[in-house]
Amino acid sequence: MGSISRAAKRAANLKASSVWDVHHEALRRAREGRPVTVLSVGEPDAETVGGVDEAGIAAIRSGAGRVYGDAGGQLELRQLISQKYEKDYGLQIDPRRVLVTAGAQNALFQTMLTVLDEGTEIVIPDPCYVTYEPTVVASGGTVVPLPLRADDSFRITAEAVEKKITKKTRGVLINSPNNPTGAIVSEQDLNQLSELCRTRDLWLISDEVYSDFVFDDKKHIPAAGIAESQESTITINSTSKMFSMVGWRVGWAIVPERLINPMMAVSEGMLFGLSRISEAAALKAFSVDNDFQALRAEYSARFRVVFDNLQGVPGIVPRKIGGGMFALVDISGTGMSATEFAWKLLNDFDVSVLPADSFGEAASGHVRISLTKSRETLKTAVEKLAKCAADARAATRVDGQVAVVGKNDKYGSVLVCRDRLDSSAQQWYTNVFDLIRENGAGVLRVKEWPCEDVSDVTAAVVWNPPPGLLASLPKLRMVQVLGAGLDGIMQFVSELDERVMVCRLVDPIAVERMANYVLAAAMDHVRHRAYTRECQQRTKWDTGVGPESISSTTVGLLGLGEMGRAAGELLARAGFDVLGWSRSRRIPDDDLFGIRKRFVGGKDQLSELLSSSDVVVCLLPLTIETQGIIDKSVLGKMKTGSSFVNCARGAHVVLNDLLEALNSGKLRSAVLDVFEEEPLPKESPLWKHPKVILTPHIAGYAGEASAANTVVENLSRLARGEKPLFTVNVKSSNYQLTDFD
Ligand code: PMP
Repeated sequence: MGSISRAAKRAANLKASSVWDVHHEALRRAREGRPVTVLSVGEPDAETVGGVDEAGIAAIRSGAGRVYGDAGGQLELRQLISQKYEKDYGLQIDPRRVLVTAGAQNALFQTMLTVLDEGTEIVIPDPCYVTYEPTVVASGGTVVPLPLRADDSFRITAEAVEKKITKKTRGVLINSPNNPTGAIVSEQDLNQLSELCRTRDLWLISDEVYSDFVFDDKKHIPAAGIAESQESTITINSTSKMFSMVGWRVGWAIVPERLINPMMAVSEGMLFGLSRISEAAALKAFSVDNDFQALRAEYSARFRVVFDNLQGVPGIVPRKIGGGMFALVDISGTGMSATEFAWKLLNDFDVSVLPADSFGEAASGHVRISLTKSRETLKTAVEKLAKCAADARAATRVDGQVAVVGKNDKYGSVLVCRDRLDSSAQQWYTNVFDLIRENGAGVLRVKEWPCEDVSDVTAAVVWNPPPGLLASLPKLRMVQVLGAGLDGIMQFVSELDERVMVCRLVDPIAVERMANYVLAAAMDHVRHRAYTRECQQRTKWDTGVGPESISSTTVGLLGLGEMGRAAGELLARAGFDVLGWSRSRRIPDDDLFGIRKRFVGGKDQLSELLSSSDVVVCLLPLTIETQGIIDKSVLGKMKTGSSFVNCARGAHVVLNDLLEALNSGKLRSAVLDVFEEEPLPKESPLWKHPKVILTPHIAGYAGEASAANTVVENLSRLARGEKPLFTVNVKSSNYQLTDFD
């Protein structure tokens, strides 16, 4: 059976993501006659520019459908496009440098095929338009996302781009005005980006399909206008949005002289000339005097309608934009995810917007509203959106109150419970609880279990609570677990009702310490530390075991949650070759933070990692599936002379199998921080084993103050009506796994 390419699978994966589900469902309902307002796609509502349709029909009648178009486009059209640049920006562009394509989308694809090779990279701001990635992947390249920040108006700077440049970088792709953020790149930032690309021999690819939609007194600055960077700039645009003719598929790329022939060759292989029918329509569009001023004013006014009606609405933050066809709105304060919110808005109010998460991490918690309907329609739609936000906030709160936990009697209290804790952990928890009381004073009312009245408890801070305790709290809305793992409460999940949020404790200090521990353990392998320690004890002077090189040492990480990620980043920075294994693709393929190769899936995906790693590190969550995972068969697949590191949970390891692998010489050493029974019993053979380096469960030890602060911050978030951090849907079928890797 023939294989399917990596590019197609990747594209299908991206497409399969649920981003368009709401939109498609909205269209389906609209077809059934439901009064749905579709604001989830960017099709301009303005009439196609005058005479375009007729010009297309006339071209068909005169036989344009019987002939091929010219590669690169009809010269007359290329001239008209060039004239637009002269008219709008005073630029002289040789029409031969204008290559006509089937929409901007096709121009992007042709560009990527022309400038990328297998293994090369292109820096693209995150968030960005969703179809960029497939064009890059199909051309053999990799997208290096440059995360932008909503609170910095999604600004892209040369300084930030420069940090992402590697030997493999071929270019930077920018989009101004931007879809979905509406941000525009300032003249100064554009100049600096252009200079950076010019001096570093990179392409600056500028997607300007919304160039005619810049608001207020701002101006669009075309990248093609920077004369000294002409040789390194590719400008992409299309007639789709400016003339409301998305279906005619007419776009273009302005390329430097030296790119004309190579790109034309790619274009011939891909398109063999745009349809002359479409070209005739575009010729007409460029020759009518389109009132872009009125178009800009209309879109700007529509944006104001959205912005003004949403500003100040509790739970909603409309983002300020400079142009484009979309408004981006932060809805995270409603307590719902963007997808949940978009579904609620469609189901309860017949309005469809796009959850913006899939445009990139920085847009998560946002929905994108197309400004492609009249001001009146938009006004009604955003009023519904505000109502939907109010409903969402009420649904995610107790009794519809803004605060859930707080000093006021009405809001209930926080229950801390130090019952059933390991003796070794007692003091730590006691100190953390004291600090929670202290730090939360004034915000939180803290009770300690056992206590008589639990009827007002809305949040519980626990590790291993007594059976039945959680079930006995009628107003419980949040459980803060005092650990990064959920193994402490795993068996009590059935006690929780669906609305209870369970939060893991992901403490930044603990994460950093864990990463340090793993790095040190990898160094222990490189430096033969177990053996040299043994030699020292035996007063033996053995010079035969010099340290090995870091760069030729491969570390395989099992588990890529926060800890795995931090460890992977640090190891890669130190020069180790890093592999990783995770259950799911929660971390995207193009954001593997220095991991050379990631294996995704079940245990059967592990073999290659095991047989290629010099050090295997267990950072997995403890679940039914991972209990005892480090057994004879896993250890047997590891390289002879390799080392094993466990800083997850003792129950991951079948101790006898590990001892056998150490004793038989299969393993060089084991660095162990966690044990099935803790404190480790005095009679355990591990204490004195010459190949074992052990520590008393301190690898990811969170500072008491830091842990307490993290918990108080999370409880306060709930009190402020915001969503707490690191919540886990414990009712989903395999929650323990998906939320860890
Ligand atoms: N770039 C961006 C940023 C877009 O939003 C779109 C269309 N939505 C395109 C390119 C593709 O446009 P065209 O219709 O010209 O292919």
